[in-house]
Amino acid sequence: MYADSLNWEKVFRADRYGKGEGSYVNCPLSKEEYQRFVRALLSAEKVPLRDFEEPRYFEGCLPIEVMAERGEETLRYGPMKPVGLVDPRTGREPYAVVQLRPENREGTLYNLVGFQTKLKYSEQERVFRMIPGLERAEFARYGSIHRNSFVCAPRVLRPTLQLRREPRVFLAGQITGVEGYVESTAMGLLAGINAARLLRGLKPVVPPPETAHGALIRYLMEADPRHFQPMNINWGLFPPLDLLPRERKRLPKRERYRLMAERALARLSGWLSEIGEL
Ligand SMILES: Cc1cc2nc3c(=O)[nH]c(=O)nc-3n(C[C@H](O)[C@H](O)[C@H](O)COP(=O)(O)OP(=O)(O)OC[C@H]3O[C@@H](n4cnc5c(N)ncnc54)[C@H](O)[C@@H]3O)c2cc1C
Repeated sequence: MYADSLNWEKVFRADRYGKGEGSYVNCPLSKEEYQRFVRALLSAEKVPLRDFEEPRYFEGCLPIEVMAERGEETLRYGPMKPVGLVDPRTGREPYAVVQLRPENREGTLYNLVGFQTKLKYSEQERVFRMIPGLERAEFARYGSIHRNSFVCAPRVLRPTLQLRREPRVFLAGQITGVEGYVESTAMGLLAGINAARLLRGLKPVVPPPETAHGALIRYLMEADPRHFQPMNINWGLFPPLDLLPRERKRLPKRERYRLMAERALARLSGWLSEIGEL
């Protein structure tokens, strides 16, 4: 949306728990406003599916109207979560919040955070203008659902990102079955390194599973091919720390993750010196 079409009297700048540079803009909703908004989402017109389309959504990126269908409170525990966002006008956290994030450096455009949607364009205008602060919002671009194409990595890929059946072909990015900017870039880097190594007569390499790159590769290789879905990087993909279960339980999560990150860096530099030239 265009920044100059927002009602700056109603919205407030804040990052969750005051962390960050205050670049998010928040639209506060009361209980009544939230409930009215959820009802409008449920009854709004959606773009009909074509007969070759099957609605299989990525759980980390669900359309808001699909979340609303799961229950009245779902959005309030998802993208409309108000925790850590205090409205300076009331000194309290609102009942729910819609967050806007600058789209460009000049701050002339904002997007609605976590608002993937399949609502018809006219309905997006009608329903999103019910959000306090967006009553007269002008839309620079409407939301639309995108398709993510990916191969069934556990069936067709080698851990070096070469196709099993045609090792001269490397896959890079989200087509390998990872999801996200950093993850796609990571797979691009590995595919690039291995393609260059192959050309120079060197053996393609696979990073150790204790590193983030290696953890993603291991997921691509070991996930169940019958239900394979794209994956973001997360701590659950890393092998557990080499500790007794009793010790591991006693360790606070933050400390556990710090140790895993240290282990990842140590394994990464060990691996880099082992393989020598990239
Ligand atoms: C709306 C939306 C929001 C997202 N939000 C986030 C987010 O907040 N954080 C995050 O980490 N990730 C997010 N993602 C996911 C992220 O964008 C992707 O995972 C990532 O960009 C994938 O990178 P890639 O280089 O593998 O593929 P892409 O970025 O899709 O690049 C593929 C390129 O190939 C080109 N191409 C396709 N076919 C051909 C052809 N036949 N010939 C030549 N070129 C071709 C395409 O035009 C495109 O430029 C979002 C994705 C979408 C769609």
